[in-house]
Amino acid sequence: MSNPQTQITARYNRLRRCLAKIGFVCKGSMIRRYMPCGQPRCRCARGSDYWHGPYYQWTWKVKGKTVTVRLTREEATLMGSYVRNDRQLRRVVAQMRVISLRVVQAQIKAVSRQGKPRKWMQAGT
Ligand SMILES: [Zn+2]
Repeated sequence: MSNPQTQITARYNRLRRCLAKIGFVCKGSMIRRYMPCGQPRCRCARGSDYWHGPYYQWTWKVKGKTVTVRLTREEATLMGSYVRNDRQLRRVVAQMRVISLRVVQAQIKAVSRQGKPRKWMQAGT
């Protein structure tokens, strides 16, 4: 079995390779929805089984406000893959931060003159 340092480096390198493969990224989220039009004589007034759609929306936040753009199905397919890439990017970066924190904690512990670990070093990410 390899030592922990080698394992952690290998894990980190796997994440780096994963990052390199991620394509275009777009923030926000995709919504697929059906809606009633509001006309009382339209068939959609019979219930949600008859609503119009699907409609595709891409939403994201700008300074705390949600921005929504309606997309065609083709646009939604394209945008959806970029939105998924963005999620993947953030998951990978989050894992890299966890590993990096563990590494820096060990490095600081090794050179620290203080015997006991400091408070921030026990914190998570
Ligand atoms: Zn309707």
